[in-house]
Amino acid sequence: MAIKTPITVAYGDGIGPEIMQATMKLLDAAQAQVAPEIIEVGEKIYLSGNTTGIPDKAWESIKRTKVLLKSPITTPQGGGYKSLNVTMRKTLGLFANVRPCVSYAPFVSSNFSNIDLVIVRENEEDLYSGIEHRGTEEVYQCLKIVTRPGCERIIQYAFEYARKFNRKKVTCLSKDNIMKMTDGLFHRVFNEIAAQYPDIQNEHLIVDIGTALIASNPERFDVIVTLNLYGDIISDVAAQVAGSVGLAGSANIGNQVAMFEAIHGSAPDIAGKDIANPSGLMHAAIQMLVHINQPEIATLIENAWLKTLEDGIHTGDIYSPEHSKKKVGTREFADAVIARLGQLPSHFKAAHYKPGAYAKIECYGAQPKAESRKELVGVDVFLDNPQDLTAQELSGKIAGLGGPMSLIVITSRGLKIWPDSSIETPYLRHCCCRFQSSRDIKQLQAVSHSDIINLLARMNEIGLDTIKTENLYTFDGELGYTLAQGQ
Ligand code: NAD
Repeated sequence: MAIKTPITVAYGDGIGPEIMQATMKLLDAAQAQVAPEIIEVGEKIYLSGNTTGIPDKAWESIKRTKVLLKSPITTPQGGGYKSLNVTMRKTLGLFANVRPCVSYAPFVSSNFSNIDLVIVRENEEDLYSGIEHRGTEEVYQCLKIVTRPGCERIIQYAFEYARKFNRKKVTCLSKDNIMKMTDGLFHRVFNEIAAQYPDIQNEHLIVDIGTALIASNPERFDVIVTLNLYGDIISDVAAQVAGSVGLAGSANIGNQVAMFEAIHGSAPDIAGKDIANPSGLMHAAIQMLVHINQPEIATLIENAWLKTLEDGIHTGDIYSPEHSKKKVGTREFADAVIARLGQLPSHFKAAHYKPGAYAKIECYGAQPKAESRKELVGVDVFLDNPQDLTAQELSGKIAGLGGPMSLIVITSRGLKIWPDSSIETPYLRHCCCRFQSSRDIKQLQAVSHSDIINLLARMNEIGLDTIKTENLYTFDGELGYTLAQGQ
């Protein structure tokens, strides 16, 4: 008898238990070689006073089986409850969010009949680090963190995925025309890694035109790799354009652990009525079977599911008098898929996951590079300026305080307001005073941390509120910061 792969299963909240029962029944009927361990996460755990929504026993199971099939959960509003998905991604190192997006026209309404794209979204970095600060009465900020290993891992994953699943092209989306350092790094690493996969086409698009093309011409895309926030947004755009928000599954992949779920939420409005569509979770289960190297069972289930759709057996959310023959509930839909196990679709291309080819993809990024020579050459000092001192007044007060550093420029929201500014009504409340060891960026000399501390002490003595500093470094002589607009 084949050895069963242990998997952890969470039934979740709202419609979660119904769609999971339907999915587990299907896995059982298809003879998936899995040994489920049930854990409790979500609303009940939150309301028992555990703000993470997941008890230690559940962690223990996930870390042991390394595979989680999860129904959606309800995060109670207010009360400091943390998003379970974010906690899991970070704790388990689930660096890749993989969302296949397929159109099933004419059976599911969409303007496009040939969408078959996969979004590979970076899952741990970017603006989702959740590091936000309020510096003044009026100004808030959010820190965008992008690391080289993070970029390498996700981009390598996208190309490995393309190669394993016989995809032809990987498209990178970023906004490096504006964010030259963070998104610029992502784009640079994409070019480096793309060069190692000559068998796969590559292209880069700025995320705004890329998103417009997903909406207007989605069939041109194959695999898309992008940063966390853009990936979050385009996943929903793509799913909506494909017309299959309720049908899509997603995988959260780490090198050790992987989590599979539907993309929709717990739909409390229809919970307990046996009308929810279990297809999103079924697709997540298919992704899981491929991941644990049971491609034959994945193929069997996907083809039975496609045949059910073609036969017009539809749940209420996708029912249309034109293309449906029978409106069914959650349980009846699962039974219809089970009854078609072994059959092939006739309208859609039959799925065929190749045996042996799809064991999980592990990506660790490149080897660490030799350290570059890092030199401290100045500092940006951010001020809360509640008296709205003009840039001229400010420069008069601070120009002589830098010791070996000179005041080079004062900016507000990235725009130069001193010297020689022609801005009519500058925003003065929050400004950034740049001190550098030299005016000429080719002549920069090293300064010390003490020079910066002394500058801050002097600014404090004259009553200025320094709310934040950013050290200015060069790396092998290259600037580690952007020049202000107009600097
Ligand atoms: P939702 O996806 O639960 O529901 C949006 C709409 O789609 C509702 O009208 C719902 O009835 C319908 N719908 C969703 N899934 C369906 C299905 N399988 N079959 C038929 N109709 C379906 O989104 P929401 O209302 O914004 O969120 C509800 C709850 O889900 C919230 O507590 C939210 O935090 C949670 N949520 C959880 C996850 C997750 O666990 N991964 C993801 C998103 C939202």
